[in-house]
Formats: sequence, structure tokens, C-alpha cells
Amino acid sequence: MKTGFCKYTTKQPDSVLLFTTTVLLLLFVRLRVNFTILLGDRLFPYGGYIQILLMSFFAVWIYNKLNNPTYYALYRKRLWLLFCFWFFLQFLLGIWVSDIFLLTGKLHFPFPFMIVSGAAYRTEIGFMIILFLVTILLSGSAWCSHLCYFGGFDSWASGNKYKKRQWIIPIQWGVKLSVLFLSVLFPILFLITETDIRSIITVIIMAGFTEIAIMLFISRQQKRMVHCTWFCPIGTIVAITKFINPLRIRFNNNCTHCGKCIPACKYNAITPESIRQQKFHLTCTRCGDCKASCPHNAIEYQYNGISPSLSHRIFLITVSILYVLFFSLARI
Ligand code: SF4
Ligand code: SF4
Repeated sequence: MKTGFCKYTTKQPDSVLLFTTTVLLLLFVRLRVNFTILLGDRLFPYGGYIQILLMSFFAVWIYNKLNNPTYYALYRKRLWLLFCFWFFLQFLLGIWVSDIFLLTGKLHFPFPFMIVSGAAYRTEIGFMIILFLVTILLSGSAWCSHLCYFGGFDSWASGNKYKKRQWIIPIQWGVKLSVLFLSVLFPILFLITETDIRSIITVIIMAGFTEIAIMLFISRQQKRMVHCTWFCPIGTIVAITKFINPLRIRFNNNCTHCGKCIPACKYNAITPESIRQQKFHLTCTRCGDCKASCPHNAIEYQYNGISPSLSHRIFLITVSILYVLFFSLARI
């Protein structure tokens, strides 16, 4: 039995804490933001309150589902994909049906690299950068395992099966850092050369289609999240900056080096060599799929000075709340 998960599946205090915190946070946002932010309020009078209640129950449901090791990876991926579809459905409805599905109506391209490229072009630390950094501070790398509006598609494209491909590993960091560098360099060059907006939009669309093509052709073929792990500049920033959050994932003494966790990882973060060294590669997003797959309960989360089982509960509560906040609030 994987005690790190099962023991806490029906913990009522967790559910009460989760429900109450979600209600309070959504209420706070609803009352403090100076425009009608909740879709429920836009659809019918006081609909926001009903939305807050439903979303808070949803958070508890998510927590309980994620606390089951048998279905953890399945629910994580399905929930992530659901959020991605919901995000883009609102985007399309906002364009074609009604602007009530848009957040502010200020349209921008929904590609993650635009978070850094847009900031570089505008030479300002905008709302998205702040939201992104706060998410890293609160959850480490959950942006790239549960919350990103784009990455769920790469997870979907990579499927559920594992395929061994070692050739791609050596070029990984060179590619990742180059793409990150280019995603900052291009907007600066556009600014300096006063490039016309049509050319800029063409480059953005080409980059976006390159991302989609990587998911469709390479991630699908490799059965790994090649887009997120090798290409996306935001994924690279997450991989490097996730350490500002105190959560860590580690092997414990139960590890028998059996390697059964390797197929669970789509981020190329566990290899036979990393198991020998009892380490995870830097691309680890602490998604927890390997932890759920380990038959020896040998992988655990840990916040500084807190027991692994409590750390796991804290992580799941944090992720469940953030997921529901993103689901309720994140749109273009
Ligand atoms: S790597 Fe990029 S696309 Fe993938 S989950 Fe992270 S931010 Fe999103
Ligand atoms: S090593 Fe484990 S926690 Fe890290 S990305 Fe891979 S499956 Fe997720």
C-alpha cells in the first residue's frame, strides 16, 4: 500500500480547509477586482456566488481524486487537458460569440512564450509575469504539470505509453536555452528596428505553429513531452526557478533501483543513471506521476522540515486551489 497517498484520501479537515480557502479566495477576487471577473456574474445576476460554491466543491473533488495513487496520473492529465480545452473554448467563444467570455477583451496570442516575449517587447513586468512568478513561488513547477493553458495538449499528444529515446538528451539544454534567448532577443530586435506589426504577427504565428507541430509530430512520435521539455522557454524558466518554492521531490531508502518509475515520466527527468545517483533531472516538474507509479513508495515530496505525508497533502491542497482559481479566472 502506498501510504503517502491512501492514508489521507478521506481526511475531512483537508476538505474543509480546501473548500473554505477556495470560497474566500474567489470571494476576495470577486469583490476586489474593479470589473465583473466571474463568468457566472456575467451570465446571470449573482451567478458569481453559485460559481464560487460549485468551484469550491470542484476543488475538494479534485483533491480527493488526486489523492488516489491508482488514478493520480490519469486524473492529473485529464484535469490539465480539461483546463486547456476550457481556456481555448472561452477564447473562441469570446471571439465568435460574445465578449463576456473574454477577461478584459485585450486580445493577445495564447502561446506561453508570449509571456516573456510580450514583456520584453513592452519592456515592462506585466500582469502575466507577476501571475507566473507568484505561481512558481506558491507551487514550484506546478505551472508545467497542472496549470499551463498550453502544456496539457503536449501531455495529451505524448499519450500514456513510454518509448525509450536517449539520442535527444544531449541537445536538450542547448536547445532550451537558445529558444529562451531567442524569445527575448526577437522582441528587442523588433523594438530597435521598429518592425511593422504585420511582420511581428507573422513571426508570432509561425512560432506558435512550430509549437503545435512539435506536439503533433515529435511529442506524439517520441511519447514524451518534447514541446514542454525541449522547446518552451517558459518551461525552461520554470525548470530553473522552481527552487524558490521549498517543495522538493526525492528518493527515499525504499528505492530498490527497479526502474518502474521511468516509464511514468514524460519530462525525461528520470533515467537509469539518475536513479543510480538518486536524483531527478532538472526538467522534473514534480508532477508526481513517478511517485504514484512506484510500488515501493520510494519517491516522496518534502517541504523543509515537514514530513513527506504532510508535504504531499500540502502540495495537493495548493495545486487543487490553484487549479480551480485558474479554471475560474484565467482567460484572455
Ligand atoms: S513547458 Fe511551456 S507549454 Fe509546457 S507546460 Fe510549461 S509553460 Fe506550458
Ligand atoms: S521525475 Fe517524476 S515528478 Fe519529476 S517530472 Fe518525471 S514523473 Fe514528474
